[in-house]
Amino acid sequence: MSMNGSRLLNSCKRGVQAALPQDCLLCGAASDDAPLCGPCRDELPSLPRTCPVCAMPSSLGEICGTCLRHPPQFDMTVAVWRYAYPVDRLVQALKFHGRLALASFFADELACLVERADVADIVMPMPLHPSRLTERGFNQAAEIARHLAGKPGTRLAFRGASRVRRTLPQANLPLDERARNVRGAFACALDLTGARVAVVDDVMTTGATLGELAKALKRAGAARVENWVVARTLD
Ligand SMILES: [Zn+2]
Ligand SMILES: [Zn+2]
Repeated sequence: MSMNGSRLLNSCKRGVQAALPQDCLLCGAASDDAPLCGPCRDELPSLPRTCPVCAMPSSLGEICGTCLRHPPQFDMTVAVWRYAYPVDRLVQALKFHGRLALASFFADELACLVERADVADIVMPMPLHPSRLTERGFNQAAEIARHLAGKPGTRLAFRGASRVRRTLPQANLPLDERARNVRGAFACALDLTGARVAVVDDVMTTGATLGELAKALKRAGAARVENWVVARTLD
């Protein structure tokens, strides 16, 4: 196993490491140098068996009917948790309150799920529109993605894709308007010919935004696009 591979496995066993002793964000118990204590981490809402393409429930883990009928532009989705309490609070704590220790926690949990033997050539965060980046000061997906680099041959592309127009927040829209809201939202300036690209994001809801980005990446030549997401909504 490569040095990076063993380092990742060790981090799976250890859980997440931040720099200083701290209290668990959820219960306040001492949690050494991790943002959550062991019991709170173990109780985070897991996903049932899911479709490998869209990560929606699928009783045998087979490709679901929706993906068979309307194959999305992405090829695979890896999701760590169900987007439910308290994962929603943790995601919001990173995104809106700048709890950056959570970025490495999320990245370590994702790294445990991603098949290291078939790792992506390029890891790319879901881009924010520049105006939203200015409002927030950082891109939470980029903060997570920066911790996922490290395997030889894997390249981080922070600015490989961009949002070419500002879209309404998907959460404020009815489900049937979300695909239209993000249509044509992305551009990719890289030549991705033959590349396996992993897109990192915090939450996957309908998959419309990830699908639209995957479309832009495939247009740029990507051979395969995987979504690596922290949490998946199931409703
Ligand atoms: Zn706790
Ligand atoms: Zn599916």
